[in-house]
Amino acid sequence: MSDKSLPRILILDDSEVESLYLEALLKNEFEVQLAKNLIDFWAHMAEEPPDLILLDVMQREISGFELCSQVKRNSEYGMIPVIFVTSLDSATDIERGFEVGGHDYVTKPVMQRELKARMRAALRLKSLEHELRMRSVTDYLTGAYNRRYFFEAVQSNLSYAMRMRRNLCIAVLDIDFFKNVNDQYGHEAGDAVLQHFTQTIKSQIRKYDILARFGGEEFVIQFFDCAIGKSIDFLNRVCTALQGSPCETGGHSIPYTFSAGIGSLSEMSPVDPIERLVELADKRLYHAKNTGRNRIISEAP
Ligand code: GH3
Ligand code: MG
Ligand code: MG
Repeated sequence: MSDKSLPRILILDDSEVESLYLEALLKNEFEVQLAKNLIDFWAHMAEEPPDLILLDVMQREISGFELCSQVKRNSEYGMIPVIFVTSLDSATDIERGFEVGGHDYVTKPVMQRELKARMRAALRLKSLEHELRMRSVTDYLTGAYNRRYFFEAVQSNLSYAMRMRRNLCIAVLDIDFFKNVNDQYGHEAGDAVLQHFTQTIKSQIRKYDILARFGGEEFVIQFFDCAIGKSIDFLNRVCTALQGSPCETGGHSIPYTFSAGIGSLSEMSPVDPIERLVELADKRLYHAKNTGRNRIISEAP
C-alpha cells in the first residue's frame, strides 16, 4: 500500500536489476515507482508527477541527459529535481549532467546513505523553491492569488480561450459593509472574515478557476471554459453557503454578504485587453452596490 506522506520518486533505469536494487534501497523512506521504459516514464509523469526523478544515463531508448532536458523544458515538470545515478564518472559526463538541468549526480555503485542524503537535500530545496514561488504569487492573509499572478494567468488563458473558442468569465466581488465588521468586531475579526470568504469561495468553485484578492475586501475570479449562466450559479452557491455558515470567530458569529459583477469574454471584441473585461465586471459590481448590495449583476450597464 502506498503511503501518501512519503515523497514520491520515479526511477528510470533500463536495467531491471539496477531498478529493483534502487527500489530496495529506498523504499523505507520513499514511495518508489519504477518506469519500465520511456513510454511508461511519461505515463507516470502524466498520471501524477513525482517529487523527484532518478535517471540512469546510458539507456537503450534515450540518453538520460536528453530525457532530463526534455523534463526541464516542460513547464509542468520543469521544477521536479532530477538526480543522475550512473556508472559514467568522467568529469565531462558529470559536467554535462548539470548542464542539462540535473540537480545532482551520483555514481554507481551507489552508497545508500549518500544517495538518500542527496535526495533529501534535493527535496528540501524543491520545497523551499515551491514556498518562495507561492509567496510571490499569493496574498499572505488569505492564500488567494495576488493581482500580478491573476493577470499573468488570465492573459495566457485568454489567448488559449480565443484560439479554442472557449468562453471565459471574470467576476469581481466585494464584501458589503465590510468596514462595519472592523468597527463592530475589530480588525482581527475582519481578517477572519476575509479568510472565511476565501475559503467559502474556494469550496464552491472548480479547481481550475482562479481566485485572487485584488486588495482590501475585493476579490476576482476567473471562470475558465464557463458560460455566464454557470458562473452566476457558482456565485449564487457562495451566497447560499455564506447564509448557511457565517464566519465564526472570537466567540461571535458574523453574518455578511457580498456584491458581484460578472463579465464574459463573449461580450468583448478580440482586440480588447483583459483589463477591459475586468473593467466591465467592475462597472457591474458598482451597479450592484448602488442598487442595494447583496446581488450579482451580469448584464448592462
Ligand atoms: P461597501 O459595501 O460599499 O463595499 O462598503 P465597505 O464598508 O465594504 O467598503 P469600504 O471600502 O468603505 O471599506 C473597506 C474596509 O476594508 C476599509 C478597510 O479598513 C478594510 N480593510 C481593507 N483591507 C483589510 C484587511 O486586510 N483586514 C481588515 N480587517 N480590514 C481591511
Ligand atoms: Mg466592500
Ligand atoms: Mg471596497
